[in-house]
Order: sequence, then C-alpha cells, then structure tokens
Amino acid sequence: MLSIAVIGGGAAGMTAALAAASRGAAVSVFERQARVGRKLAVTGNGRCNLTNLHASPEHYHGEEPGFPAPALRRLDAAGTLEHFRRLGLLTVTEPDGRVYPLSDTAGSVVDVLRYALEGEGVRVLTGCEVKRVRRENGGFRILTDAESHSADRVVVACGGLAGERFGGTGLGYRLLEDLGHRCTPLRQGLVQLRSSSPCCRSLKGVRADALARVFRGDELLAEAAGEVQFTEYGLSGPVIFELSRAALSVPGTLVSLDLVRDLKEEELRDLLLERSRRTPFLPPEDVFVGTVQNRLGRVLARWAGLELKKPLSELTGPEAARLARAAKSFDFPVTGDMGMPNAQVTVGGVRTSGFDPETLESRLCPGLYACGEVLDVDGDCGGYNLQWAWSSGFLAGSSAAEKEHA
Ligand SMILES: Cc1cc2nc3c(=O)[nH]c(=O)nc-3n(C[C@H](O)[C@H](O)[C@H](O)COP(=O)(O)OP(=O)(O)OC[C@H]3O[C@@H](n4cnc5c(N)ncnc54)[C@H](O)[C@@H]3O)c2cc1C
Repeated sequence: MLSIAVIGGGAAGMTAALAAASRGAAVSVFERQARVGRKLAVTGNGRCNLTNLHASPEHYHGEEPGFPAPALRRLDAAGTLEHFRRLGLLTVTEPDGRVYPLSDTAGSVVDVLRYALEGEGVRVLTGCEVKRVRRENGGFRILTDAESHSADRVVVACGGLAGERFGGTGLGYRLLEDLGHRCTPLRQGLVQLRSSSPCCRSLKGVRADALARVFRGDELLAEAAGEVQFTEYGLSGPVIFELSRAALSVPGTLVSLDLVRDLKEEELRDLLLERSRRTPFLPPEDVFVGTVQNRLGRVLARWAGLELKKPLSELTGPEAARLARAAKSFDFPVTGDMGMPNAQVTVGGVRTSGFDPETLESRLCPGLYACGEVLDVDGDCGGYNLQWAWSSGFLAGSSAAEKEHA
C-alpha cells in the first residue's frame, strides 16, 4: 500500500490527507500543535469564511498568476461546498458570495474534517513537529525530534508565517528549501493598518459601514465597501483587510472613509441644516445623531472643526457643508501595518516555478508535493485563501495517491 506523509494538519493538509486516503493510500498527518485545524478554528472572526462563490484565478496573487488555475478547476467553490456537504457541513452564502457554516462557528468546519480523517483511517500524529525530510531509497524519511518515519510520498502543507499565535511558522519553507526549493521575499498580507490620525484613539472599538477609498495624492488606488473597525492604532475590519494590499503598495497613502454613502454631500448638508432647525437645543457635537454612531459623530464633528461653544441653531450653510464633506471623506493617513503576527496571510512563499501546477508535484524532487499557504499564492479577502487551501490540498493529495509507482 502506498504510504503518504502529510506535514501540517491545517486546512490544506487535512484536505490532502482525505483526498489521498479516499484513493486507498495509507496516510499519516504530522501536526506540531496539540490539535489539527487550530488556525482554521479562528478564521473569519470565529465564523470561518470557508469559500467565496466568485473564487477564480483573478483573485489570487504570486509570481505566476496562472499557477492556481488547475487546482481551482479540479476543486472549485461549488465542488468544495458539495465536498463539505458530504462531510455533513451545512453552509449559508451571503449576497457577496462569501460562504459560512450554518452553525456560524468555525469549529464545525474543523470537527467535520477531524471526524472525516478518523472515518478514512488517517493516522493523525499531533504534537509532532517535522524537523527534516530526506530522500531515501526512492521514498522519504521524515524526522521529528524523537522519531523517524518512512513514506513513499510527502505532501508539505505547513502553511505560512501569518497568524503566529495560531500556528504560523516558517518551518515549511525550510523543509522545502532543504529539498532544493527557493522562496520569494515574504511579507504580511490582509492586515490591519496603522494611522497617524489623532481620531483613532477616541474611536477605539467603534464599527461603521463605509465606502473606503485608498488614495496616493489625488490618485485613487482601490476602493471597497463594508465594515470598518476603528482601533487604538488605526483601522481594521474586512474592508481594511481587503484594501491593505493597495494601501501598503506605496508609501504615503491615505484611507478616506465615506460614512454616509447613500447620500450625496449636498443632501447630507441639507439634512444637517434641517437637524439644526428641528433640534436647536442639542449640543452642537451631537449634530450627526441618527446619521452615524454617536461617538463617531462627535469625533467627526470635532475633526471637521465645528465650533462647539455656539448653539446648534446657529449652524451656517458653509459649516454644514464642511461637516458633510468630513463625513464623506474622513481621512486616515497610513503609516504602516500591524505586522506578520496579526496578518491573515503571507504574501510570497515557495516559488511555484518549482512545482507542476497540474499535480502540485515538485519538479526538483519527484514524490514531493506542496499545497496551501506555504506556496507563493495568496488570495484576496473573502474566503479566497481557504479556497486555495482546499483546492491545492485536494490536488496535491489526490495526485500523490494517483501517481504510478516509479
Ligand atoms: C486570524 C485569521 C483569520 C483568517 N480568516 C480567514 C477566512 O475567514 N477565510 C479565508 O479564506 N482565510 C482566512 N485566513 C487565512 C487562512 O486561514 C489560511 O490561508 C489557511 O489556513 C492556510 O491553510 P494551510 O493549511 O496552508 O496552513 P495552516 O492552516 O496554517 O496549517 C498549517 C499547519 O501546519 C502545521 N505545521 C507547520 N510546520 C509544521 C511542521 N514542521 N511539522 C508539523 N506541523 C507543522 C501548523 O501547526 C499548522 O497547523 C485567516 C487567517 C488568520 C490568521
């Protein structure tokens, strides 16, 4: 019986193991943490955005833009949902194509995968960090601190550096480099942004629905709409993750938030003037009551330079216009990001030119396969990175089990 060692029990590794085992191979998963799927269990803020119905190669980045296509064809988003349904996981799809488990709990995704591994007879070795992989007699020797195992094929699914607390390490890069592969430069992707705006601190914890635009000078680099979270250091939330690539692509960018995207600037100005007439007794800093969250409204009023001592009834047309402009262009100069430990994904990885995109087998070391984040493929925000983990894991695991014996 063909023996396959899968190194890494994350999203890609578990999928590779299931694909190989269902094709009759004897599969062992080596996982350095105490349990499999630790990172998966915290994805999507604990909800796990497990795929996106719009997953296609255009949503992925790396040195070779076409590289993910064959894997995504072999297991696309619809196929992934069908696969999970067979494992017993029900899902819901949001209007933008993001898919979550119906239970709204990432743990459910980990559970169905764990039980499926057990059902397929996969041997799972937890607390077992692989230190080296050596070629030996046409197969491989896998060395951990305490033991040595042999396998006919090896699938490296060690993930990347992002999300250190949940298992992000550079170990997979090292294992593959020892076998002759090379890495591109690595940096953090899908990450929270730091800003020099003095408003951040006072807005800590506030969330808002906004249209966020990234500018360098007058040039619009990218835009996206959805939830923004204000933090002590800057900006976070799904929209910010999505825009972080553009915001960090060049120095001196600015994130400008339109907090009232359904109204034109003049409409908002008129609404604020109307408010000043109807409720002249309100403190002026409450001028935004009913339009944006109260704390956000007060910070915005100050940021727009509203005269706080005079009564709201004395709000002038130009002042209302200035407030409206502030709400439509609430600006945050970008000064950096929160670094790899807080990022969702690694940009860069093991060079894909060393692997056959049709099988994910190494071109340098036959019988060796790689999948998931360890490769130089990263996706946009919105379920695309997990889709890459499922698709590439499935392709690597099934190719490893299907390939004829040498
Ligand atoms: C906080 C957070 C939230 C995220 N949310 C989403 C989301 O909602 N949707 C989405 O699409 N993507 C999300 N991502 C990204 C997504 O989780 C990753 O892209 C995906 O998990 C990568 O899968 P992987 O199997 O390649 O790596 P991982 O899931 O990181 O798994 C790799 C495994 O290998 C193990 N390992 C490493 N080296 C060794 C070794 N030498 N020996 C043994 N074991 C080893 C690690 O412990 C780990 O368990 C999120 C990431 C983070 C950090």
